[in-house]
Formats: sequence, C-alpha cells, structure tokens
Amino acid sequence: MKTHVKSLVVGGGAVGASIAYHLAKAGWDTMLLERDELTSGSTWHAAGLLPLFNMGYATSHIHDYSVKFYKTLEAETGLNAGFYVVGNLRMAQTQARMDEYMVYATTAESVGIPYEWMTPAQIKDRWPLVRTEDLQGAIYHPTDGYINPADVTQAMAKGARQFGAEIVRRVQVDGYRWTGAEWVVSCTRMVEKGGNLVPSEEQFEITAEHVVTATGNHAQRTARLLGIKIPAIPVEHQYIVTEPDPMLVEYRKNHPEHPVLRDADAKWYVREERGGWILGPYERNAPACFEYDVPQSFRADLFPLDLDRIEEEYMSMIHRIPSSETVGLKDDYNGPICYTPDGNPLVGPAPGLRNMWLAEGFSFGITAAGGTGHYLAQMMVQGEAEIDMAALDPKRYGSWMTTEYAARKNEECYEHVYVLHHPDEEREACRPLRTAPCYDRVKAQGAQFGCVNGWERPNYYAPQGFDDHAARSFRRGGWWQYAVDEAKAIREGVGMIDATAFTKHLVRGPGATAFLDWFTCNKLPKVGRINLTYALTQTGTTRTEYTIVRLAQDEYYLISAGAWTAYDGDYLRKAAEDKLAEFGWIDIHDVTTQWGVFAVAGPKSRDLLGRLVKDADPATVLSNKRFPWLSMRNIELGMCPVRAVRVAYTGELGWELHHPIEMQNYLFDQLMAAGADVGLKLVGARAQNWLRQEKSYRAFGNELGRDATPLEADLPRFVDMSKDFHGKTAMDQTGIRAKCCTLLIDGPADADPWGREALYEGDTKVGRLTSGGYSVVFGKSIGMGYVRPDLAVEGQKLKVRMFNQLWDATVTADSPYDPTNQNIRADG
Ligand SMILES: Cc1cc2nc3c(=O)[nH]c(=O)nc-3n(C[C@H](O)[C@H](O)[C@H](O)COP(=O)(O)OP(=O)(O)OC[C@H]3O[C@@H](n4cnc5c(N)ncnc54)[C@H](O)[C@@H]3O)c2cc1C
Repeated sequence: MKTHVKSLVVGGGAVGASIAYHLAKAGWDTMLLERDELTSGSTWHAAGLLPLFNMGYATSHIHDYSVKFYKTLEAETGLNAGFYVVGNLRMAQTQARMDEYMVYATTAESVGIPYEWMTPAQIKDRWPLVRTEDLQGAIYHPTDGYINPADVTQAMAKGARQFGAEIVRRVQVDGYRWTGAEWVVSCTRMVEKGGNLVPSEEQFEITAEHVVTATGNHAQRTARLLGIKIPAIPVEHQYIVTEPDPMLVEYRKNHPEHPVLRDADAKWYVREERGGWILGPYERNAPACFEYDVPQSFRADLFPLDLDRIEEEYMSMIHRIPSSETVGLKDDYNGPICYTPDGNPLVGPAPGLRNMWLAEGFSFGITAAGGTGHYLAQMMVQGEAEIDMAALDPKRYGSWMTTEYAARKNEECYEHVYVLHHPDEEREACRPLRTAPCYDRVKAQGAQFGCVNGWERPNYYAPQGFDDHAARSFRRGGWWQYAVDEAKAIREGVGMIDATAFTKHLVRGPGATAFLDWFTCNKLPKVGRINLTYALTQTGTTRTEYTIVRLAQDEYYLISAGAWTAYDGDYLRKAAEDKLAEFGWIDIHDVTTQWGVFAVAGPKSRDLLGRLVKDADPATVLSNKRFPWLSMRNIELGMCPVRAVRVAYTGELGWELHHPIEMQNYLFDQLMAAGADVGLKLVGARAQNWLRQEKSYRAFGNELGRDATPLEADLPRFVDMSKDFHGKTAMDQTGIRAKCCTLLIDGPADADPWGREALYEGDTKVGRLTSGGYSVVFGKSIGMGYVRPDLAVEGQKLKVRMFNQLWDATVTADSPYDPTNQNIRADG
C-alpha cells in the first residue's frame, strides 16, 4: 500500500469511486480509502434512478454527463452496471405543473437533453395500466433510466484501478494535518467484531498533495476533523417494493418495461421491479438524522419503515396505477439520504483550506456521481471546470450556518423535491434569521422578502395581507404589477432599495495596491473614486465582480454580490496569502455585517438627499462638480455619517448610502420622512433586476461566472490590457467562444423569460438567456444571454423558446436605455 499519493479520495460510495476514476484517468496518482466496503454507505440502498430533469444549469450538465458516461463503462471495464434506459415520464395533474415542465424544457434544450411532450391519450395508448383522465399531460425523457448503484460503483472502481488508482477498504480516516505543502492523513485499520465495524490498534499516516472527501452521511464527522462547517445532513428516505402485479406481468409479455413514472403532484416516483412496483415517495415530515455523527454501529443498515408517513403517497400510487391495489408489500427501504439546504451537493474547494476538496451532500448521488467526478477532476487538474460550478460551491453558506439550520432546511428541501418549483419560489424554513435592523420597518411597509445567503431582502412591496405564496407563477406572478410600479418609480421619481446584504471587504496595508492591481483586471481607481472590475480565475473566466472604492492610498472597500460573501472572502484571502511575500502585508476584513446599504436612485434622488445632507454648502455637495459620477464621499445625512458611493445598479441618477449598521433605523426614518415630499417609493430586488437589464448591467451568477471571460461578457472597457493581471494570458488565449448581449423580446402576453431559455436563429439553437424580466421603458420582455459571437450584433433577429413556442427577439445595442449615461450623470 502506498504511503504518498498525489490525490487521496476518502469514501467509497458512488461519488468517491467516480472521483477516483476521473482523477486517475487524468493521470494523477490516486488512492481511495473506504472505512467499510465499497458502496456500504447510502449507495447500496439507492433506487438507482437517473433523472435528467433538473432546473439548474450546472446540475443538468452533471446529470447529462453521468448518463452518457455510465453507458460507456461496460465496454471499458467489462462490468455490467445494469443500466436500463427505460425513459422517464413526468406526469402533470395541473396546468401549473405543465408550465413548470415547459420552463424546465428550455433548460434541457440549452444543455442538449432530449425530451418529448405527451398528451393523456398518448400516455394511455402506450401505457394502459396508467390512469390518465385527471392528467394534463407529461414530459418524457427517452434517455433516462435506472442503474444498479452498487454495480456502477464497482465498475467505476474497476475503471479507476485500470488507470492505476489504488483502492483500499477497511481503512478509516481519522485526522487531517496540512504541512504547508501536503496533507498528512491519519488512518485506522477497521476490523469486524461481532458484526460491528470497529477501529483496530493499527494506525498509520498517508501523505497526499490533494484530498477529496466524499464521505456521504459521515459529512459532519468530516467537518469536525477539518474544523469547517459542511451543511450536509441526511434525512430519512424510504421506498417500498411490491409483490408482482399480475396485470403488469401479463402486460410485460408483449410490451417493453414502463418508463420511470413520476407523478410530481402526488410526490412520488414508481418503477418496475421484477414484475412488481417500486414506490419512492417524497413525503412530509421525514426527519433529519445523524445531525452530529453516524454511530459506529450503523453500517449498511436501514431504519424501520414508517408506513403511516407515506400512506398518502401509497394511496395515490394505487389511484394512478389501479392494478397495484391488490398487490402486497415485498420489501422496504428506509435509509439516510444526504441533503443540503438548497438540494445541490457541495462540490469544490473547502473553505479556508488548501488542496482540500469537498464532494458532500448528495441527494441524487447516483445520478450526479459520474458528472461530479468529471467536473471536479477538471477543477483539480486544470484549475477550472468547463461549466460554472459556483452553484455547487461549498462556500455558498457562510460561517453563520449552524447544525440546526442545516438540519431543518434539509428536511424542508427533501419535502420540496416535488413541490412546484416556481422560479419566484421562496422557502420558509429557518426564517427570518439574518435581518438588517430596518427589517421590521420595511416589513411594516409591505416588504415581501426573499432570502439571500440567509439575509432577508425585500423582493417587492405589496399591500398588507398580500399572499406571496399564492402569487407565485411560472408566468407573471401576482407581484408583477408591484414590481412594474417600483421600476417606474426609479425611472421617473425616486426609489430606495435595501441592499444591506451586499458583500463588503476592507483591503488595506502596504501590499494592498500592488495586490489588487494584480488580482483584478481593471485599472485601480484614484483615491475617492470607484471602479467596476473583475477578479479572474486562472483560466481567465470571471471569479468575482467588484465595485472597488479607493478610500486612501492603500485602503480599498470592495463591494460584491450579497449571495457570495464566504465564496468571495475565501478566494480573496487565499490569493492575498499567496502574494504576501511578493507584495507585502495585506489586511483583509469581511465588514459585510458592519455596514448597512440603502441604494437611492431616480431623477429625484438628489432632491431627496439634498433635504438631509449637512454641509457648509449643502446646495453643491451633491453636484457633479463636488460629487461626480463614479466617486465616493463621506457625507452626513442628518446625524448619520454615510460613505456615499455615486453608482446605481438601476442605471439612474443615484447613490449607494453605506452607513454604520447601528444607525440604520435612524437613517431609514430620516429618508422616509424626507421622501414623503418627493414621492419616495420603496423598491425590491425584482424591479432592480429588471432595471439593470435595461442598462445591460451584467449580474454575477447570471452573465458573469466561471464559464465566461469578461471579454466574452463583452466588457472590454473594464479590462486594462496594458497591465499584467491574474488570468490575463488565459483570458486572451480563450478568445470569444460566445458573446453576451441584451435582447428585447416580443414574448407571450402573460409571461417574461426567467433567464434560462434557449435562443434560436431560425431552427438552430445558438445560445441561451442568462437573465430575463420585463422592461418598463420598452413595455416588453427583456433578457440577457450568450449567443454565437457573430450574432451578438445590434438588430440581429433571434427567437426565444418560452412555453414551448418560439418568440421573436432582437439584439439591442449595449444599454438600450440611456446608452450615453445622460441620466446617471445628470447635474443639479
Ligand atoms: C432509499 C434511498 C433511495 C435513493 N435513490 C436514489 C436514486 O434513485 N437515484 C439517485 O441518484 N440517488 C438515490 N439516493 C441517494 C444516493 O443513495 C446518494 O446520493 C448516494 O449514494 C451518495 O453517494 P456518496 O458516495 O456521496 O455517499 P455514500 O454512498 O454514503 O458513500 C460514502 C462513503 O464514505 C465512507 N466514509 C465516510 N467517512 C469515512 C472516513 N472517515 N474514512 C473512510 N471512509 C469513510 C462511508 O463508509 C461510505 O461508504 C437514494 C437514497 C436513499 C436513502
């Protein structure tokens, strides 16, 4: 057995085996350690379904890769993974569910996943055992199916061995120590005693340059060993297997196997199993388990079946497949299934640690294993994956996250697997948790909140008693008109947005200027000025967007997206640490929770602030001469000291008012009182999202991410090619694979795009939207997205797929609203 390897994978479930396979295939000297037997975690009892249906872009790619990869394994390893491509039929009982599938279908199209639509009559015709009279229709994925989870894991393990990986069973990892160059991993040989797996006296160390943890239900122990937080906590999940159904047996004499049937409105999936049925429900009240650890005695074990909990789903299976009524139960499985608060696994660099990679929290781990191994290996070996993996990044939860939060959110996530996933969905559990001081005040004004990185952030404002839940839709929700009114208020009068959730870092010290000059691609601003800039990955794509405010010669205030505080902080700190010797001392503080932010914007915003500002010459303090666009000044609004930054993400005359958080309510009351005279309107994030698209302002996580360079985002004005910066060469070499553009869309009368729709030229798919919404200025839908570079030209006619139809769209010039920034620069 080796004692030093390039990469060590901990955990021999489907996920660990795939990672070992892909790392070994990439040429890395790889070892996998498993404390028990391969597949003895959740993998052994999975139902093996491989659902391609997914609303997320990265996860759709991951699942798609897995399905294709699993089909190749037998030829490569000689092991049959038991892959049955039976298809997957998702049935819809309501029109809203059909809408959901249509919104999903356009994501599938962007990724290239095949699908077909079916009417109830077509379903009945093909699968007569299925009751269809109460169905609206279905979406059918012909390439879906199911696999034997243990067999596919063994096949991947064999493939890994063929590429030179060493797989060692019965070795438990008990500790990790970073020497500055490699990980020293403490191991214990495990032995069987009376049916239990227990640690032996034999202990040893293995050193590895890189470690990947794929420890499934043991993630909390892994977190403790690493001294980090991992919000992966399992929930109980059960499925039952029936005795053979005589009608099914008869039917199968002349027909192929049923596809995996999913009745999402009834919250279950069903597939055939040896003449009977497997029913897998996603029921209410499934409890979290192993919140702190997995007991040593729990091996490939199960929990007792809780039939009461799944009675409703069981009855609805009988309703949908009446022949199943008379058949008895043959088997049941109730096992731990790992979850995370948003249902996406945690894949990528571990927070705060070097060369430590996480692959934890998989709830669809059989489906995701193949793609996870592929893309994670790309990240480790090449520095970045070809798709943007940010949605899976382990740092999307900050240090505010607790065990209680993760457990309750994971239970909610499990229960939500089959609820309608409206794009404007907001989930309720564990809220409110992180609130700005003005929370009660804005709530009293009708704020309907969304949740970003745990923060409560107003989405829009509605009359008291308005039911946000009932207002959600795949089309224009009941909130739409409120967002229209708010957007108009900013274009025509003045509005105020609570932007406290913004991420803020203070970077200072003798090395700060040289470091930031290298770390970001735009020129650094002069003292008192601000710049928009990007930190790039080593492959030249966009890692983070910053508004940089230069407070003093060597002191900078960095503002970035609210959702990504830990993600941004980790990258910034690690980069600064790497460059310490070269650039000198750099002090970095996350000051997000010390500064509140109100964004005031609109033609009357200067009037509003002018009523409050204290200055020797209040009439000129906000004028262009004393306070030009893209500059920062410390001003006083009443008794509140304010770091005012003259930018507006809405593209209107405006200021971001960064203020001491403890004075937020004072400032809020002052602004509201002064605003009464000028028609100040509180505005939420949805209107802001529409307004920024009228100005072609790219959003991080939408247009900006690790799959496109700033040049592909068509932002050359923010890239200073005359200097050297991190990622520059790679960015240059990448060229322009696709280009970002803004489109005005003549879409359906009752819907706007959500930013995941496929784009066409004629019948040819040429790109996809990354943002969508409604433009109050142009009175039609708007969107931003990526298309083939030759098509990203003003006036180009394209089509957008929405609700299963192609709608006309026209590429606009950058910033279709106020292209010369006259309004933003307005003097007064
Ligand atoms: C009833 C049920 C049905 C399911 N059906 C499906 C399905 O149809 N499709 C699907 O995609 N998913 C399904 N799942 C989910 C799926 O089982 C999991 O997502 C998947 O198995 C996770 O794989 P993994 O490799 O991450 O974890 P695991 O399979 O749990 O593997 C983790 C491994 O790490 C080992 N380990 C932990 N700590 C250490 C350590 N310190 N040292 C050494 N080894 C360690 C463990 O022993 C274990 O073998 C189902 C789950 C359940 C419970």
